[in-house]
Amino acid sequence: MSRLIRAVIDGAALRHNVEVIRARAPGARIMAVVKANAYGHGLVQTALGLPSVDAFAVARLQEGVRLRERGVRAPIVLLEGVFTREQLREAIRFELELVVHDTLQLQLLALEPQAHRLALWIKIDTGMNRLGFRPEAFRAAYEQLCALRPAPRAIRLMTHLAAADEPDGTMTREQLDRFAAATHGVPGERSIANSAGIFGTVPVGGEWVRPGLALYGASPFAQGSAAQLGLRPVMRLETSVIAVRRVPRGETVGYGGAWRAGREARIAIVAAGYGDGLPRSLPNGAAVQVAGRRAPLVGRVSMDMIAVDVTAIEAVGVGTPVLLWGADLPVEELARSAGTIPYELLCAVSERVPLEPV
Ligand SMILES: *Cc1c(COP(=O)(O)O)cnc(C)c1O
Repeated sequence: MSRLIRAVIDGAALRHNVEVIRARAPGARIMAVVKANAYGHGLVQTALGLPSVDAFAVARLQEGVRLRERGVRAPIVLLEGVFTREQLREAIRFELELVVHDTLQLQLLALEPQAHRLALWIKIDTGMNRLGFRPEAFRAAYEQLCALRPAPRAIRLMTHLAAADEPDGTMTREQLDRFAAATHGVPGERSIANSAGIFGTVPVGGEWVRPGLALYGASPFAQGSAAQLGLRPVMRLETSVIAVRRVPRGETVGYGGAWRAGREARIAIVAAGYGDGLPRSLPNGAAVQVAGRRAPLVGRVSMDMIAVDVTAIEAVGVGTPVLLWGADLPVEELARSAGTIPYELLCAVSERVPLEPV
């Protein structure tokens, strides 16, 4: 019996993707975004598998602390900064670089002179309207950082792109213009590009790039594939068949009878469900691979199982391998079937799915 669901992680693909990103952003330093458990790939293992990047970025303090505790020495940036004095002290203790995006954070920094030995990233909101100082408020915030004593180790400038994945670069160009205008003449390294900014149609520039999804070998664009960008998927989500049954014409499969056999069908029951992170919104017909051949999902995704119509595939039995995504079946494709994006599928891979090196 082959094994039940697991995510096989290809460290060589991860490093290959870093080199592809480097070639796309020549000269830029790479801040590898490993938030959300490295998009489901395992926070610590992913960071340890990337010795050549210049920094890591996480969203939450605890992720940064965990990396430090597991021996990661590279710079680590907290993308949302800190919100309390206790968090700031933790960040100082573990030497985590901070994004500073509002005045509360400026006030916190003024209270803790120890924080000034950290590199600080001041974030400008150029149109995302999520985090960051508005362009007109940027100078005053920047001057407050400059006035901290002792002086911060570094003050760097960043913004985040809202629509770099769209082929029409209008919004990206607007954001770049606002960023350039707000920061004109201000010294300091800059960081603008996420994955879509690195691979998109509008050249974005900056001394640092911040790839997340592309590192993991998926494409941030709605059209085209990661392979066309030269990227290789890092995760292969695989499982196996746990039962096969004959379903007579006219009967239904699964909860709610959401699929009805139009002819006698052979149905494989597969060990993977929303308890593993598969979206329950996957419709009838979404493709998985059974024994290396594409086959359609039938009926609803349940917590531990899905059903797949394998009528057309010979010799499917208990233990036959099933691929949910990987090199032969991009995660982008399943994401499209579910009406979502690969980010969400990768991040959703649940704790009960073991992560294993190739
Ligand atoms: C998540 C995140 C990134 C990485 O985005 P991708 O689209 O995965 O490359 C970059 N910058 C910031 C601020 C982020 O929050």
